[in-house]
Amino acid sequence: MSGDAVEAPSAARAIRLIGVRKTYGDVVAVERLDLEVRRGEFFTLLGPSGSGKTTTLRLIAGFEQADSGAIELDGVDVTRWPPFRRDVNTVFQDYALFPHMDVADNVAYGLRVRGVAKTERRSRVEAALAMVRLEGFGGRRPVQLSGGQRQRVALARALVNRPAVLLLDEPLGALDLKLRQEMQLELGRIQSELGADATFLYVTHDQDEALTMSDRIAVFSTAGKLEQVGSPGEVYERPATEFVAGFVGASNVLERDGRRFTVRPEKIRMLPAGTAPPEGLTTARGAVRDVVYLGAITRYVVELDDGGELVVVSQNLDVTAEQARAQRGREVVLAWRPEHTSIVDAVQEEEQQ
Ligand code: ADP
Ligand code: MG
Repeated sequence: MSGDAVEAPSAARAIRLIGVRKTYGDVVAVERLDLEVRRGEFFTLLGPSGSGKTTTLRLIAGFEQADSGAIELDGVDVTRWPPFRRDVNTVFQDYALFPHMDVADNVAYGLRVRGVAKTERRSRVEAALAMVRLEGFGGRRPVQLSGGQRQRVALARALVNRPAVLLLDEPLGALDLKLRQEMQLELGRIQSELGADATFLYVTHDQDEALTMSDRIAVFSTAGKLEQVGSPGEVYERPATEFVAGFVGASNVLERDGRRFTVRPEKIRMLPAGTAPPEGLTTARGAVRDVVYLGAITRYVVELDDGGELVVVSQNLDVTAEQARAQRGREVVLAWRPEHTSIVDAVQEEEQQ
């Protein structure tokens, strides 16, 4: 998969996986994975539950050994290195704070293990707590914190070691939506405060989270297989496979003349039947089967006369909820720019194997 991208020079590579494979008995958790994360990148592994994301992080951190393949950190082969020699820190989904220690001791833990002197420990813990906006919380126990604050402590505990690479495994998964959205932006701020070289490798199954935060996204499918690597715009607007089309957005796949392609719901205009669509657009006729009014937008499911269906998302600019719902059953013409389609031929995909 990395073959089609311009390879980063080795000095700019924070993480490199070469043909890494990991099985548990009969289960293939990671399938011959090639991946490059550049220094300073916010890089996200996106995929459904069971697609091998956590295993990939654990392999990079050294908590698991690969069956085959090699792992490089900063250009150095670390495949056989134990976890403590690797310049990475991990933030786990369940925080894993020590309940009997206060916040400051939790954050200082890694420094104490490494024998950092007390005065330096104190100043670094303070700096790490400031970075996650928890100044003055050092004396509290984890039970005296909210979920969001505990998550920040877990982050501070990793940041205090100033790792070159921070691995984050669904760290916001337990937070409610509002807090999660705040923390998504906070993580971006924290990364830029750490400096241009700080590399974040982030794991999530949430496509919005991936699109919000990432410089690049690697999309995994259920089989522990890498489907596509690209910027949020590339992955969303140019999905390489049918899986990516369906996982990052509504799938909207049509087959015409032996080719399968996808077009994103918001790129499609829906016009009353009989309206002449603007020049140069691809069109399809159909009838509205379902209407889902979502406040700011409405989602229409349109069954096409030539087979298949498309989801259309439309901003409710001049349309009330009643008018939107009244579209159900109506005959319509759908129209979109030809350049907004993306070919996702399954045949082509299999031949790449
Ligand atoms: P994700 O983080 O994407 O949800 P995982 O990396 O945790 O996926 O798991 C990938 C696959 O490997 C799953 O099928 C999972 O059940 C399996 N797996 C993960 N860890 C173990 C383990 N320690 N023993 C056996 N199977 C495992
Ligand atoms: Mg996981």
